[in-house]
Amino acid sequence: MSLSQNNTPDVLPALPVLVGMTTAELTAWVESVGEKPFRGKQIAQWMYQKHVTDAADMSDLSKAFRLMLTEKTHVSPGKIKETVKSADGTTKFLIELLDGEIVECVTIVQKNHLTACVSSQVGCNVGCPFCATGLSGFRRNLSAGEIVIQYLLMQHAVSQGLLSDFTPHTRISNLVFMGMGEPLLNYEPVLKSIALLNKEVELGLRHITISTSGIIPGIQRLMDEKADYNLAISLHSVNTEVRNRLVPINRKYGVTDLLQAAKLYANRTKRRITFEYTMLKGTNTSDADANALIKALRGIHCHINLIAYNPVNSPFQAPPRKEITHFQYLLTEAGFPVTIRNNHGSADMSACGQLRVHQREKELKTLA
Ligand code: SF4
Repeated sequence: MSLSQNNTPDVLPALPVLVGMTTAELTAWVESVGEKPFRGKQIAQWMYQKHVTDAADMSDLSKAFRLMLTEKTHVSPGKIKETVKSADGTTKFLIELLDGEIVECVTIVQKNHLTACVSSQVGCNVGCPFCATGLSGFRRNLSAGEIVIQYLLMQHAVSQGLLSDFTPHTRISNLVFMGMGEPLLNYEPVLKSIALLNKEVELGLRHITISTSGIIPGIQRLMDEKADYNLAISLHSVNTEVRNRLVPINRKYGVTDLLQAAKLYANRTKRRITFEYTMLKGTNTSDADANALIKALRGIHCHINLIAYNPVNSPFQAPPRKEITHFQYLLTEAGFPVTIRNNHGSADMSACGQLRVHQREKELKTLA
């Protein structure tokens, strides 16, 4: 097994990184360093079941082995650098990776459960002009371990009572790939992270959603996988000209082909597709936009999420609330299930990537 290939990007230090390995990989690794095979399962249980990422706390391992793990490995590929909690309990975490890169992830308090929103890349090269991550450019892909650690660190913080003022729930039961990055442009690590979250962390596959800007080859590839994954598509418009502007990848993978792929995916997996539609004042919120959307989505097993835009440093603005509810009314009347997604944590910047951008601004100011 090549750790650098399977577990960490080449840029990271050569020490093995344990979060990101399956129980089988951990078992092979502990044997390779002269330990009994069952130690692999013990480490996996500490990391994935108890969310412990400090070897010193793995109390059923010998002192010598714990010391060896501390000195000769990185149990965790990242640590919490900053936490920002909003008035509604939504909490953003900045996670610092081993090479100093920073990603953000969010815990969202919902009525009956907690949801984790995780990043799949450092930055993003899809370049949506209304998105803070898109505005800050692409840095690199994340490894499976760097994705899983976001969940583990958030779950550990929640277990320690981070959200006890807001919710009785202490387990993050849902996970969405809606943080920084385009998950289908980092395909293998994202799928490996889902396998780890499902098999090792024991999150139900039906509680994990991949959100894409519309990478058609990735959707087609997902269709051929044995497992059926929940899929969300950031649509924002069905008008080619408008979508070219809002989601530049539309120039490569056009909206007509994308909706055809979405329909095939829904039919093949029997899963309902979620279409994300960010409402942007004067851009995609008219009655004509609603009617075009209704026509384009007719016949696709789907659900539509309308998202009130959270302005970043961009030319776009949020529409008035009544414009969003009217848009919802038109879609609902046409028979579509539609929800308006509350802009969790808007007071503390909630569009993907904004927290990290803010942090980098602070760092730059410190350097200046
Ligand atoms: S909205 Fe998503 S796909 Fe678009 S730039 Fe931002 S992170 Fe990338």
